[in-house]
Parts: sequence; C-alpha cells; structure tokens
Amino acid sequence: MCDADVVVGHVDAGKSTLMGRLLCDLKVVDQRTIDKYRKEAEKMGKSSFALAWVLDQGTEERSRGVTIDIATNKFETAKTAFTILDAPGHRDFIPNMIAGASQADFAVLVIDASTGSFESGLRGQTKEHALLVRSMGVQRIIIAINKLDTVSWAEERFVEISQQVSAFLNAAGFLSKNITFIPVSGLHGDNIVTHSTKSAASWYKGPTLVQELDNSEPISRALDKPLRLTIGDIFRGGVQNPLSVSGRIEAGSLQSGDALITAPSSQKCYVKSLEVDNESVDWAVAGQNVTIHLIGIDPAHLKIGDVLCRPGSEIQSIKELKVKVLAFDFLMPMAVDVHRGRLHTAGKIRQVTALLDKGTGAVVKKKPKIVQPGSIARLVVDLDVACPLETGQRVVLRNEGATVGAGLLE
Ligand code: GDP
Repeated sequence: MCDADVVVGHVDAGKSTLMGRLLCDLKVVDQRTIDKYRKEAEKMGKSSFALAWVLDQGTEERSRGVTIDIATNKFETAKTAFTILDAPGHRDFIPNMIAGASQADFAVLVIDASTGSFESGLRGQTKEHALLVRSMGVQRIIIAINKLDTVSWAEERFVEISQQVSAFLNAAGFLSKNITFIPVSGLHGDNIVTHSTKSAASWYKGPTLVQELDNSEPISRALDKPLRLTIGDIFRGGVQNPLSVSGRIEAGSLQSGDALITAPSSQKCYVKSLEVDNESVDWAVAGQNVTIHLIGIDPAHLKIGDVLCRPGSEIQSIKELKVKVLAFDFLMPMAVDVHRGRLHTAGKIRQVTALLDKGTGAVVKKKPKIVQPGSIARLVVDLDVACPLETGQRVVLRNEGATVGAGLLE
C-alpha cells in the first residue's frame, strides 16, 4: 500500500467511520482520540469531516506519521494518501475532488448496504461518483459494501448489491478485472484490517480491505517509466543540506548519486542523498514521497511545480494542451488557469473540439459552442508560457478562482 486513494460514497455511507477504523486498526491513531474528536466534530455539525477534523487536532498524530489537510479532507499515512469525497452537490465536493481524484491511483467506493439505503435514490449518487472517478482516469476500484452488520451479514444482500454495482461500473468503463467487492462493517471493524470473526460472516473468504489495498499494484505506474517528480516544496539553508526538494515520485525510480535534469530550466544536478518518511534511504520508487538533497545547482533554477527527470528522458514543455475534461461549469472559449498539483499557469480554452459520451467516450457532437456542467468534452487549451506537461497527466481548470473542469491530457 503505497498509493493515493480516493474514498467516495454518498453522505452517511460510512466513509469517515471506515477510514477511522482503518487508521485505528493499523495503529496509526488510537480509538480514544478518534471518539473524542468525532464527538466534538459532530457537535459542530461537521460529521462527515469528523475524521479529518480528528486528525487535525494536536501534533501527536502527525508525529506518528499522519498528515492532514482539513480543507481537502485528506490525510496521509506513511503508505497511503487518502482523500474522502462526499456526494456531488455537497459544497466541498469540488475542491475535494481536485485534491483526491486528480492524483488517485485507485478509488474505494463505500456503499451503505442497510435495508432501503442503497435503493433510496442514493444509487444515483453512487453511479455519479463512479463516473467522476473514471473520467479522472482512475482505473481500479474497490467497493466496500458497508454496514453489513445491519443486515445480519446476509450473503444474498452482498451478492445483490455487487451485481447491481458491477453493471453500472462496467457501463462507466471499469473493466471487471479492476473491480473488487468486499463486505465490511466499518463501525465494528469486520474485514477492514482483519477478517471478521462473526460466524454469520464466515461465508466470505476473500481479502480484507487492507489486504486488497496492499495487493493493488498500481497498473498505470510502471517503475520502468522515465523518472518524473514534481517538486512540491523547496527547502533552503540547511547546514548539511543547503538545498532540498520534496515531492511524490510519479514514475520511475531514483537513487543517491543520480544525475537529474530540471524542467523547464534544463539544469543538471545530482542527488546527494534522499529520505523517505524522515529516514535516509538509498533509493525510492514511484508512489513514494521523498525529500531529495541536491547538489550542483543554483536554487534560482528551481521552483515549486518544476519536474525532475533523468538526462535523456526529460519531460517536454508545451504550450498547447489537448484535454479530455469533465465540466463542472459551462465551458467555452475563455480564460482558464491550468493546475496540476502545485504547478499552475494561465491560459485559455481555444476550442471545444467535441462533446463525448460519458460512458463510452465516443464523440456525440463535434465543435459544440458550449459545454454544459456535468458533460465530458475534448478541448484545446493554449498556455501563456510553455510548461512541463505530458500525456496521461491530470489537470484541473479554474476560472476566477472557481474550478470549472478537471480531466486528462491526451
Ligand atoms: P460519511 O458521511 O460517509 O463519512 O459517514 P459516517 O462515517 O459519518 O457514518 C454515517 C453513520 O453511519 C454514522 O452514524 C455511523 O455510526 C454509521 N455507520 C458507519 N459505518 C457503520 C457500520 O459499519 N455499521 C453500522 N451499523 N453503522 C455504521
């Protein structure tokens, strides 16, 4: 488990409870801390944010290796970065989605199996979530069929929901081999970290949620791909290490002594040493967050959002982007800021090339004048200055501070 995950599901599906249980059972935080802050959070009407809230309290949890960004409902353990998303329409959904789905390797979809819940129109929201994560390029999805304690661990209920969900996930473009269903109870901790010991649940022989997360070798992230690391932070002035940068290795691997090239400044530098989770390591691979101590470069050549590559396989800087986006707002030829992690740059939509079918991705209409919110379209965006971006990366488009779309570079 060394990934970015996005956790989706409608409000009250049990996302925070399940994530709390996971952190607690993995001994990242203790149950008392969770209970205490959950109560406080609920009092403040923040129940779906309870967990992020919990984890934001004090530095104790952080020192154990959890970092939280409450604004995006995101928390990170040594091995996994989780982002919890609520239903579309929830006012925090869109910023959450940027932080989460735009970087996720796979999604955990939490479904409430209690009687009536799945049926009560929430299925529609669940479907919408699946489409959203799929349109952001997430290929792999784990479905936690939650609250099975409320239906006495009835296997038929699990099978029935699995079949219905499978059908719409296939329609949303997920391949069957990339979909896994796990019956769980987040509240009681069944099949989260350890298998349920309840006899009523003994019919389930598959992996627990954590085992499945561990098994999920990210498909898209080949370690053999050329190195790509977008700089998230720059630290200067250390006595031993005057210049250090940190970020997540998106592709490839790195070791001390390696020569690197910066993009877009095209400067050569060397890895003096590197750290993962504050520990010195000899090498690091895609998916890990690293701090690299650099030598041989003037800090003036580096800024947040720049990309570190290997000599000979540098990322190119481009001025024209072809993007497939999910529109959050009306899109037409207009000014947009393009964001990718901490890189952002001004530009404009030059043309809407096509409107696409949500499920199949087929062209529905060529050169539409305008794209409606909720639709998927292909656009050409011109950037004011060339930026290190390439095919397969996910970007977010904003206009006057509001997110208007998100999608994949083609
Ligand atoms: P979120 O909005 O998706 O984060 O949902 P919460 O985690 O806040 O949970 C919503 C409600 O469902 C809370 O009252 C939880 O106690 C309850 N709940 C969550 N998981 C389970 C479960 O596995 N079993 C039962 N019986 N209740 C659960």
